Amino acid sequence: MSKPKIAVGALGGTICMSANGGQGGVKPSFSAEQLVGAVPALREMVQIEAKTLLALPSGSLKVQDLVEVYKWAKEQIAKGAAGVVITQGTDTLEESAFFLNLVWDEHAPLVLTGAMRNADSISSDGAGNIYASVLTAISPQSRDRGVLVVLNDTIHSALWVHKSNTFSLQTFVSINAGIQGLVIENEVKFIAPAVSRKIYPLPSV
Ligand code: ASP
Repeated sequence: MSKPKIAVGALGGTICMSANGGQGGVKPSFSAEQLVGAVPALREMVQIEAKTLLALPSGSLKVQDLVEVYKWAKEQIAKGAAGVVITQGTDTLEESAFFLNLVWDEHAPLVLTGAMRNADSISSDGAGNIYASVLTAISPQSRDRGVLVVLNDTIHSALWVHKSNTFSLQTFVSINAGIQGLVIENEVKFIAPAVSRKIYPLPSV
């Protein structure tokens, strides 16, 4: 049986950063191919199309950028991807997810993820988040759930997800609603029905 296809698009953020030599801070260092390459287990499970779409801190993402992400993601579904994963900075991840969820008109899932710790940190979370996001993106149970956010092995609806803490790995929460599901020992388990949503046409301006 052929492996499912998944597309991974990278927009920037901590997940693609590493320490800036001895100069303090972090800088964008990894392409989408390198992010995916850091998770060798994926190669056995899926065929991946990885593309660096942008390399920005998430506060610099504009609505027009997200419109381009939407178009790219739809192209990947048209080319046969079972789902699409987008990596970006966590600061505006909930806003990106909310916007994309208003316009995402595919049965296949669009999954957003990021990282709280860059690749040089002890217990960096980027690779694990990409792995859990790809597992979620290929799960048949993820279909018709709109845009999902996956970090720290928890699956959230874009409608409710919120970054609640600036440093904790367990920062994404779905206040008032609860999580949609979990990734437990390589398995995606949904514990809540799909959140109903209205899909809007893409804004022309
Ligand atoms: N400042 C970063 C950003 O949102 C934080 C992160 O990626 O988690 O781009």
